[in-house]
Amino acid sequence: MRGCYHVASRLTKWYRLMEALIYLDNSATTRVRPEVLEAMLPYLSENFGNPSSIHTQGRKAREAVEQARQEVADLLGCQPREVYFSSCGTLSNNVALLGRARFVEANGLNKHLVVSRIEHPSVMGPAQYLESQGFRVTYLPVDREGVIRLEALETALRQGASMVSIMWANNEIGVLQPVEAITELVEKVAAEQGREIYQHCDAVQVIGKLPVDLEKLKLSSLSFSGHKFGAPKGIGALFLRRLVNVMPIIFGGGQEMGLMPGTEPLANIVALGVASRLARLEQEELQKRLLGYQEKLIGALLQLPGVELTGPSSAHRRLPGHVSFCAGGIEGEALVLKSDLRGMAISSGSACHQGIIEPSAVLRAIGLSPEKALGSVRITFGRDSSDADVEKACVILQKLLTGVLPGAERGG
Ligand code: PLP
Repeated sequence: MRGCYHVASRLTKWYRLMEALIYLDNSATTRVRPEVLEAMLPYLSENFGNPSSIHTQGRKAREAVEQARQEVADLLGCQPREVYFSSCGTLSNNVALLGRARFVEANGLNKHLVVSRIEHPSVMGPAQYLESQGFRVTYLPVDREGVIRLEALETALRQGASMVSIMWANNEIGVLQPVEAITELVEKVAAEQGREIYQHCDAVQVIGKLPVDLEKLKLSSLSFSGHKFGAPKGIGALFLRRLVNVMPIIFGGGQEMGLMPGTEPLANIVALGVASRLARLEQEELQKRLLGYQEKLIGALLQLPGVELTGPSSAHRRLPGHVSFCAGGIEGEALVLKSDLRGMAISSGSACHQGIIEPSAVLRAIGLSPEKALGSVRITFGRDSSDADVEKACVILQKLLTGVLPGAERGG
């Protein structure tokens, strides 16, 4: 009995502590939404069928998969048959790029890919691999805010590029690329030259935060990931426009029209469907709320000496809820750890490799000096964030930063 009391009181303390914690790292991952968890649980217990089986349990599972596919399609403004479930954004990006490259090679098309210099490693990795296999790869430079120049893209297209992959929103600096203008330019050059140009977009950071309408936006493919908007880790999807050819790079039982073979992760697929439906219904309100938090925190940070935003200065060129900055005089990783001690989870743009802290490729691509880049920090609000979180974040950061910034009051 006493033991039970101790466990309960420790749990209560733990829950109080959890309540006091502020999670401001929503670009890294998000909590599974309670509605999503509730919807997926039956598919981990009584509804456990294999969607490929033709018996009752199998058919029930298939129905749930197709329902989820419809919900994802409704969120993206595409046809359900254009949605392929995958395990994550990384796999979706790899299948889109390497699978299309197989098609390009098999059909004697131009082996020329264009990417930006600030792509996520799940795009940069395939690009570098293709380069090692004889593809020409154009790495488009970006300006101080992280935006590509359309003229540079046009030059590469006119030199015969047959594949383009430019991310919608950058995870580190929150910059939004002019995706509409990019697709229009690619379409224009393709029409003028009478050839097909494959256009992929890594939209992992965008889905659930900004509206996407693939009926209007003429991308060939787009990837995203469930854990960035309330579904669990281990589920993502690839949109692949009808009649656009991508060859498989993984071989197996033929699931997901042969592109993502492997028995479908039923509960995770159900989760992605529910998260997509909720995101569609709530994204307008969420976007407004995230823009408000972002504006308030940026306003407070810019009052502090030595703080400089990384990425765009204007909110309409930045991912809602995303704030990234360099704090002169303090290393980003140190600020992350100090914030953690005060119950606030944020992240930095530099990483420790074998004892040496190195600035990321993205920060170097926007022209930050190595010293400045080492001070980079990222704060990302999400659906669970509140006004109180923003207030607390402002207070904690003000204390931490005025403690180390030159010319400012020294303290905690
Ligand atoms: N692309 C971007 C822009 C990302 O931010 C991430 C993850 O952070 C990924 C791709 C990879 O997604 P996943 O974690 O689902 O593999």
